[in-house]
Amino acid sequence: MSHIPALTIDLEQDGWETSRGFIKREIEMPELNESTRPSDAVSVIVKVEFAGVCGSDRGIWNRNSFTDLFRESLGKEQKSMRILGHEFVGEVVEAGSLVASMYDIHVGNPVSGDSHVTCGKCFQCRMGEQEVCQDQKILGISTDGIFATYVKIPAKNLWVVDFTRVRKELCALYDPFGNAVHCLTKVDVRGARVAIFGAGQIGMFAILLARQFGAAKVIAIDVNPEQLAIAKELGAHETILIEKTDKTHAYDADKQVIDRIMELTYA
Ligand SMILES: [Zn+2]
Ligand SMILES: [Zn+2]
Repeated sequence: MSHIPALTIDLEQDGWETSRGFIKREIEMPELNESTRPSDAVSVIVKVEFAGVCGSDRGIWNRNSFTDLFRESLGKEQKSMRILGHEFVGEVVEAGSLVASMYDIHVGNPVSGDSHVTCGKCFQCRMGEQEVCQDQKILGISTDGIFATYVKIPAKNLWVVDFTRVRKELCALYDPFGNAVHCLTKVDVRGARVAIFGAGQIGMFAILLARQFGAAKVIAIDVNPEQLAIAKELGAHETILIEKTDKTHAYDADKQVIDRIMELTYA
């Protein structure tokens, strides 16, 4: 059995509270074996070329998010080590026997993908609303992820990409980009005034898409002036900086922000 490097956390060896960051260790090379795991017929092995670091990875790095999900999911799998990461681009190097006929994905294809591994069996999945699957797993959180040189992943999570249209390293961001596409295609923004709360990675994608889809005015809102400067460069017509104010409760409304939104959207 050959070994490959991966970025991981091991709840027994590292501990959740007693460690920080991503811990590099050698793991077994993933392989397809349909005789012992029939589901491998619809899985592929991807050689990862670029990976993205999500805001949720920062929470994992600092051990202040997804604590319960890590514990519960590893408990169910009866193991203690999780391979982290969920934003990726790479090349298919091996494919299960049903992958070509079901998904038209082949060895040699460049692929990115979605981090949500849905069950395909629950009511929501069968209604075509996989985003609210009752038994959803997330790569790098509640199932093994992609911070490794080779990963096994269900073919249905993959999206074949075209490097002649999108730069290779940007293709690693299809997962967060998908969030922005989902938001901006749920409502018709043509001619609308759109306020985007949070000018992080997904917010920036949302600004570009809102402009592309014909929003009349795009307003970016954030606590960080540098992010708002980039938002403006990307096409936000207006920006609102949320400044620290004295509030009784952290959840109290920021009155200056509300007033400014009312003004910009003509209430
Ligand atoms: Zn993410
Ligand atoms: Zn489901």
